[in-house]
Amino acid sequence: LLWEKQIRSSAQIRRSNGISVLVTGAAGFVGTHVSLALKKRGDGVVGVDNFNNYYDPSLKKARRDLLDSHNIFVVEGDINDRELLAKLFDVVAFTHVMHLAAQAGVRYAMENPHSYVHSNVAGLVTLLEQCKSADPQPAVVWASSSSVYGLNDKTPFSESDRTDQPASLYAATKKAGEAITHTYNHIYGLSITGLRFFTVYGPWGRPDMAYFSFTRNILQGKPITVYRGKNRVDLARDFTYIDDIVKGCVASLDTSGKSTGSGGKKRGAAPYRIFNLGNTSPVTVPTLVSILEKNLKKAAKKHVVDMPGNGDVPFTHANISLARRKLGYKPTTDLPTGLRKFVKWYLSYYGYDLGRPVN
Ligand code: NAD
Repeated sequence: LLWEKQIRSSAQIRRSNGISVLVTGAAGFVGTHVSLALKKRGDGVVGVDNFNNYYDPSLKKARRDLLDSHNIFVVEGDINDRELLAKLFDVVAFTHVMHLAAQAGVRYAMENPHSYVHSNVAGLVTLLEQCKSADPQPAVVWASSSSVYGLNDKTPFSESDRTDQPASLYAATKKAGEAITHTYNHIYGLSITGLRFFTVYGPWGRPDMAYFSFTRNILQGKPITVYRGKNRVDLARDFTYIDDIVKGCVASLDTSGKSTGSGGKKRGAAPYRIFNLGNTSPVTVPTLVSILEKNLKKAAKKHVVDMPGNGDVPFTHANISLARRKLGYKPTTDLPTGLRKFVKWYLSYYGYDLGRPVN
């Protein structure tokens, strides 16, 4: 009952704007930032996260403490737990679900294929089943990924481009998620917005991502592995700063319309939408490294190797005109500015005094 009380208080809507959001993956990188932004403007926010140990669980706990200090309660549980979801919807009539829980990362899938199916396919279906039978039905905004473009080499990537060549199991489960959510929109009238994020980075980020692990290794004097594509071409990513992604998520939620509960073919049908959320300016990995070196005042020990073909794609670049038009999405942070903010957070979080590690 303490649990129930915490949820009620967490979902309390300060400015009574009528919006209450269930954020899945709330202790994750993007989930933390989105939860804070929604709460800040007065939405009711309840989080759920299974705190898995894909990466350092203490970082997830620290994010939870941050959310806690803003009166955002994160329930520890799995999105595959039907009873838990039913109980949550029993306590709060969520108007929206911001679904960010997933097994992320492309390389981990080589050893752990089933964790992708568990969270990104089965978990998604469990969550949508709950949304479908909830009254009122919440509008669903969820994170797909730029990885669905896979080995498509026509850039920049537009939403209508082919997505039939996934390069990793991760990408395949995101593509499956798009098909699954489309079905729930079509049959059950759920409002669905899928967001294809492009390489998100920033404070409280994910330790498994290159910009984060490079920072750690450069500071510790350890070598970093820099992948190179075919014909010695540098890999490049459309790095997108977390604050820009958050704005895109919030705008998606605000324009998501209503679930109709009556199937997609009817008049005034619930929307099914897909948007790229990127930065539209790809940067090569060697450039990323040199920006980090400058910020850390230390040279990296670079170990350049050919891309091993274990899930990475050589290049990503978002066409964001659709999101610009429909969401007013407009990224404003370039990579040098965003990395400066990330490094500042990293040094303070891990207790570094530039160049002189204290732990
Ligand atoms: P993250 O790993 O930091 O966050 C995901 C959170 O979900 C984690 O805290 C994890 O514990 C939780 N989770 C995983 N499986 C769960 C389950 N079955 N039940 C409950 N909780 C579960 O990752 P992130 O970078 O914040 O990514 C958020 C979303 O955005 C994910 O769907 C990811 O696939 C997608 N995405 C991220 C990026 C990026 O660059 N960060 C790019 C494209 C797409």
